[in-house]
Amino acid sequence: MSLRVYNTLSKKKEEFVVRDEGKVSMYVCGVTPYNYPHLGNARPFVVFDVVRRYLEYLGYETYHVQNFTDVDDKIIKRSQEEGKTAKEIADSYIKAYFEDMDRLGVKRAHFYPRVTDHIPEIIEMVKTLVEKGYAYELEGDVYYSVGKFPDYGKLSGRDLDELKAGARVEVDVRKRNPLDFALWKRAKEGEPAWDSPWGPGRPGWHIECSAMSLKYLKPGFDIHGGGSDLIFPHHENEIAQSEAYADGKQFVRYWLHNGFITIDQEKMSKSLGNFFTVREILAKYPPDAVRFFLISTHYRSPLDFSEERLEEAKRSLERFYTALDQLDKLPEVSDHAGQDHPLRLECRRVEERFKEAMNDDFNTALALGHLFEFVREINRNLQDLRQKNMEEEEGTIGALRAAKETLLRLGNVLGIFELRNKEMNKGDELEAKLIDLLIELRQEFRKKKDWATADRIRDGLKELGIVLEDSPEGTIWRRK
Ligand SMILES: [Zn+2]
Repeated sequence: MSLRVYNTLSKKKEEFVVRDEGKVSMYVCGVTPYNYPHLGNARPFVVFDVVRRYLEYLGYETYHVQNFTDVDDKIIKRSQEEGKTAKEIADSYIKAYFEDMDRLGVKRAHFYPRVTDHIPEIIEMVKTLVEKGYAYELEGDVYYSVGKFPDYGKLSGRDLDELKAGARVEVDVRKRNPLDFALWKRAKEGEPAWDSPWGPGRPGWHIECSAMSLKYLKPGFDIHGGGSDLIFPHHENEIAQSEAYADGKQFVRYWLHNGFITIDQEKMSKSLGNFFTVREILAKYPPDAVRFFLISTHYRSPLDFSEERLEEAKRSLERFYTALDQLDKLPEVSDHAGQDHPLRLECRRVEERFKEAMNDDFNTALALGHLFEFVREINRNLQDLRQKNMEEEEGTIGALRAAKETLLRLGNVLGIFELRNKEMNKGDELEAKLIDLLIELRQEFRKKKDWATADRIRDGLKELGIVLEDSPEGTIWRRK
């Protein structure tokens, strides 16, 4: 069976057929960096990380683009409260985003475009939409006219008239339709602003994702992902903008959306105040357990958060690790030892089942179930081995070594085992904070051009097995 994915647009599972052979282009809506991500924010990034890893496992070359909304009402408000620039706020929370996601083992996207670096592209797109009659200007604001786009509502399955009736009353009376949304916003006093044909202003939220995904992935790219709270209006609006701009050309082939994280069945959100930030949770639980918890439920289903479930995730992982620790201790034998051992057959079987589960719209819960069964089989063989004379059991050892390779390879498609041994207990939490402190101090020495002290910190950490890597997003560290 080949890969099938649930497409929000068609509301059914479809065979996954890519635009360009052997390649997958994907765009995931990123964060608005104005505070630390909470667990609900983090879910899509872990989900789409697994999607990408699985596609890579299948042999696709992926190109993953994810934006940062680095100018927005919330960032501006925060910058005014803290007496900083919007850029300073965005930069510091982008850094925090990377710290959190790196710890959760989320692979970095290939490219992270920022809105403020794409103002000309956005203006060009808005201008074209005005010229084509899909948008209109109102005293320095520009609105998209949803009535001009007959397919409006096709993603969310909503009917324009119903939506209109349900629209709130305190709408801007100047708009032609209460559902028309801003493509360009006139600048208010003290806000960051850019020159445009409609006067100084800044982009509305939705247009950035259309402009940047079309620029880097071109119309008809393969996967557009995000949380299901983005289906309406964000993604609905993205389709309206993009397909009107590209003369009806299909914008995206597959729309994938993950479910909410709930606490006591209520959606985890900043506005409800019932959220935990990723770092709060990582202060109490190891990152691999958090990641395991996030993928232990199918991505489209709601996921209810509780400390018990995190404890459960931790225990589940320990079962894997206990087996892996024992497998690590096995002596080396010839690669061919135990070719016809029944465990070798199990290796092939688990991989088939794993693929079958993942091919069914990335069913990670079922895939994990298969890995658990496989570990039981491994444990049985380890137990057998203990009761026998090791030297006479080359075949079992060879088969167990092959099983370890299979387990690690499949586990890493889900990104779980590579966090093993990386950060396992609270002691590590303190260590991580101390390393961060040293990185900050090194930054300060560098600013003062005290290169000798800065280098001493870097070299000293290196001797302890901690490697620092400088990048435009800041300095990150990893174990050697
Ligand atoms: Zn977006």
